[in-house]
Amino acid sequence: MKLKFLGAAKTVTGSNFFLTGDNTGIMVDFGMFQGKPEEVGLNNVKPNIDFNKLSAVLLTHAHLDHCGRLPLLVHYGFNGPIFMTEATKALAELVLHDAAKIAKEAEAKSVLYTDEDVEVILKQVSLVEYDKPFDVGDFSITFVDAGHILGSASVIAEERKTNKRVVFSGDLGNTPEPLLSPTHFVHKAHVAVVESTYGDETHGPREEVGDLVKIIKKAEMSRGTVLIPSFSIERAQELLYIFDQLKKEGKMDNKTPVFLDSPMAIKATMIFKDFPVLFSKRLKDQVKTDDPFDFPGLVVCDTIEKSKQVKNYEGVKVIVAGSGMMSGGRIIHHAINYLGDPNTQLVIVGYQAEGTLGREILDGKSSVNIWGNWINIKAEILEIKTMSAHADQGQVISWLKKIEGLEEAALVHGEELPRLVLSEKIHMELQGVKVVLPVVNQEIDLSVQ
Ligand SMILES: [Zn+2]
Repeated sequence: MKLKFLGAAKTVTGSNFFLTGDNTGIMVDFGMFQGKPEEVGLNNVKPNIDFNKLSAVLLTHAHLDHCGRLPLLVHYGFNGPIFMTEATKALAELVLHDAAKIAKEAEAKSVLYTDEDVEVILKQVSLVEYDKPFDVGDFSITFVDAGHILGSASVIAEERKTNKRVVFSGDLGNTPEPLLSPTHFVHKAHVAVVESTYGDETHGPREEVGDLVKIIKKAEMSRGTVLIPSFSIERAQELLYIFDQLKKEGKMDNKTPVFLDSPMAIKATMIFKDFPVLFSKRLKDQVKTDDPFDFPGLVVCDTIEKSKQVKNYEGVKVIVAGSGMMSGGRIIHHAINYLGDPNTQLVIVGYQAEGTLGREILDGKSSVNIWGNWINIKAEILEIKTMSAHADQGQVISWLKKIEGLEEAALVHGEELPRLVLSEKIHMELQGVKVVLPVVNQEIDLSVQ
């Protein structure tokens, strides 16, 4: 059994791994590289594996950095099954069509695939349920709930001949998440390929609700703008849910408008509502009598015209718009309009990769160039870290400690510093577990250990 790291190795994005047995090759995730130009360039490079050996693809979840290159499999001649949960399929369909659309609108050279490729690849999807093992050639595969976004999974591959088990964490949730069931622990594996996004951090206690109350109060007093770049999936729904609660509790004025200005977030919210079975216990109870993502003052900008009208709206307002790292999307127009205004609060609620506009602003640049416009940043820049959908160092360590028989941990999906820090922590807390810090195209032989 061999494991090759093809992406998210020393970087956060481009998740892609290849596990081979005697007669079976399994790809786990085929995500887009995002962020720095030299990484983005890797999207055009065919992974260095023997595609004739590829038996199946397993998708952990629908984030672009995990699923974004799947349609390229059409170009590479793969016509086998792609396994994922039903919610992941619904979200991946949205994410992939969006990626095809963005590419079409951008320069021709960045077009990786078309809507037609997306349609073809979706026909190859085979749905799986959590905790129900199924066979792919030499392997028995099980998906378990990773608690990260709707439908997300950690994937366990057991080589039937040797009973050797490899678990791919996918992205692990910041359990307990307000909307989702908790992260499911994996009780037995020899090798763990584990994410390390926040390997050097400990999230503070969840204080986003209190933080948002203060931010909204301030904006209501000063008639200012609250600008929230948000990921469309999960984060946008969490924000809607919080505003719904705040308005119910009288902590936010019912008249304060919240503009949901992201076609993708609007669609993702509709998909979310289709899968109440995946909700946290509290949310399951609530949806019996109430729509937790709808409240007085919510303005859904489902057309460009509605989006353009937002700037004509005087007075206090909250704008939730994509993309989450300000690398494109409708947030760009709002950033141009509002970042120069000291009466604006820009609230960063998610991870900002190196090389993105969101990261530049968060790192304290006093002026930024957005589409040729130099903007002197006068807005107050705030960060709410506790809304992260990713496990922090302690949560990753707990997840690893639950795995009986663990011999080796390969740290992926993290920049160099976080994964080095996590590596040290594993050495201290999980004695005897070998740590690997893979780089792209590194292959490890799992049968010789
Ligand atoms: Zn993710």
